[in-house]
Amino acid sequence: MPNSYDPDQLIRPEILALSAYHVPPATGMVKLDAMENPYPLPVELRTEIAQLSVDAPVNRYPDASAASLKNTLRNALDIPDEMDILLGNGSDEIIQIIAMAAAKPGAKLMSVEPAFVMFRMIATFANLQYVGVPLKDDFSLDLDAMLSAIEQHKPAVIFLAYPNNPTGNLFDAQAVLKIVQASPGVVVVDEAYHAFADASLMDQLTQYPNLLLMRTLSKLGLAGLRLGLLAGRSDWVSQLEKIRLPYNVGIMTQLIAEAVLQHTDVLLAQADVIKTERAKLYRLLAGLDSVTAFPSDANFILFRIDRASEVFAALKQRGILIKNLDGTHPLLANCLRVTVGTPEENHQFYETLHTILSETV
Ligand SMILES: *Cc1c(COP(=O)(O)O)cnc(C)c1O
Repeated sequence: MPNSYDPDQLIRPEILALSAYHVPPATGMVKLDAMENPYPLPVELRTEIAQLSVDAPVNRYPDASAASLKNTLRNALDIPDEMDILLGNGSDEIIQIIAMAAAKPGAKLMSVEPAFVMFRMIATFANLQYVGVPLKDDFSLDLDAMLSAIEQHKPAVIFLAYPNNPTGNLFDAQAVLKIVQASPGVVVVDEAYHAFADASLMDQLTQYPNLLLMRTLSKLGLAGLRLGLLAGRSDWVSQLEKIRLPYNVGIMTQLIAEAVLQHTDVLLAQADVIKTERAKLYRLLAGLDSVTAFPSDANFILFRIDRASEVFAALKQRGILIKNLDGTHPLLANCLRVTVGTPEENHQFYETLHTILSETV
């Protein structure tokens, strides 16, 4: 037996070349980096959850099909009767399931650039080739570029976030549907930010046999539970179900999600407050000379600012954590992304930013 083992000899080179998804420590900070809902659940609902956990049979495996939860989700999210539902430990896991299922030798996964970084990362995990088609300068879809890339690469899967992260905008729905029609593979529309946008392609599912739609409860206020879902035709979902690990959604997640979804009005009211705060924060940012703020249909705002990396570091030093996107893609040069928080958090962020800008001039 050799007396030393070398991971570099064993692990695939594309994995060795990756850097791990970085989650910065945030203890004690104003945390506006991860698109979390800043509001806790009402105390009555938390008490109900406490009782559920008292009674939960945690010695048993959870319901592997999560039938009851799926039924609740179908009603709460208006999923068409004809569509099946696949549940994931967050929608990240669903992206991974789809990628694994599609990973024939040489198969490609396509998205736009800039997009949600997990599309690219998971493509690599699953041994798919990744193709990223740049958005236009205003972050709209470059439909001609997409159509020619589809013809050239014939991707097995296309992921499009609607609204897009990290840019915050909704793509033109007609352009997305043209991409669906032109695609030889499946197109997954990722509606993680649906609660903050007044648009959805859910009602198009019945029209397009290669369209799948993904949602998550994370941005709605349940990020800690880890529950994502995919709605689509049973021909797709029944195949993907084979890859889903049997107990991927634990009993606490099933019970709590079901209880909270009886009160979607609570979550949607919180989302409404966040939308109002988004408009206020946008006006404040847009009013700063050195800032270009981009309109958002999500619970965050992307903005461009002179010396972005310095501003990001100065904010962090003063206890405000946002996301630095400078250097991650040419279209994101000098761009930062701030999650819309509570009125107090947004105020603290804005005032601190304002102070930093007045100091550095
Ligand atoms: C945050 C985010 C997700 C991940 O959601 P989870 O359900 O928490 O895994 C998926 N897609 C996009 C575009 C996101 O921004």
